[in-house]
Amino acid sequence: MSDPRTRELKDNLAAVDARITRAVERAGRSDSPQLVVVTKFFPASDVLRLLELGVRDFGENRDQEASAKAAEVSRLLAGHHLEVEPRWHFVGQLQSKKARSVVKYARTVHSVDRRSLVQALRRATTPAESDDTTSAHVGPVDCLIQVDLRSEVPEDARGGAAPGAVAGLADEVASAQGLRLAGLMAVAPRDEPAAQGFARLAELSHRLRADHPAADMISAGMSNDVEEAVAAGATHLRIGRDVLGNRSPAR
Ligand SMILES: *Cc1c(COP(=O)(O)O)cnc(C)c1O
Repeated sequence: MSDPRTRELKDNLAAVDARITRAVERAGRSDSPQLVVVTKFFPASDVLRLLELGVRDFGENRDQEASAKAAEVSRLLAGHHLEVEPRWHFVGQLQSKKARSVVKYARTVHSVDRRSLVQALRRATTPAESDDTTSAHVGPVDCLIQVDLRSEVPEDARGGAAPGAVAGLADEVASAQGLRLAGLMAVAPRDEPAAQGFARLAELSHRLRADHPAADMISAGMSNDVEEAVAAGATHLRIGRDVLGNRSPAR
């Protein structure tokens, strides 16, 4: 626990926690959002350090990196006799052909944005339809519909469904065996203040819950817009660099 990197992560976590607490107080909320630490670019050893520091929820945005990291973390945990389990959240754009891999480690997918992906996730979690007998996954996968909050969503946009498509996608997820409709996710739009975009997300969430009361997750807020997300009612914050530091620019 006393290596310099662990101390750095501990200090960063404390600062992020304090920032969230202040934001919660300022927003007058009685609940506190869940922190999901986005570990993309950072090694399994950092995940282990964060587990020792009490973090349980981790986000990744690429299947190739995430599946290898999740497997390595499991190996390291077995070696350390640590009785904790990370909860992996997939937060990046997801190709349908990767669905089968992702559901093996991720219990939550934040980036469901189209019908074909819902179908792929459904097939990946339904043993009867799976041609791959090794993909026996335990428990349903929580799915969040990712919304594109830009004021004009291009026809061929990737990385978020248009607001008008949310209700249909939600019904599709809700009726799929093996999937659980958990709520909505968004990234703040670049063409306007984060607070405005997140306000529309909150309104969409309100409408979604009228039809699906249990779908109450709102995944919003990154290192740059924690305060705006907390004020808009985010239940899950996805924070990378404020905990782990700057990612190397090359990828
Ligand atoms: C990388 C990433 C984050 C974390 O962003 P930071 O600016 O490092 O806090 C959150 N959400 C998604 C979808 C990401 O890809």
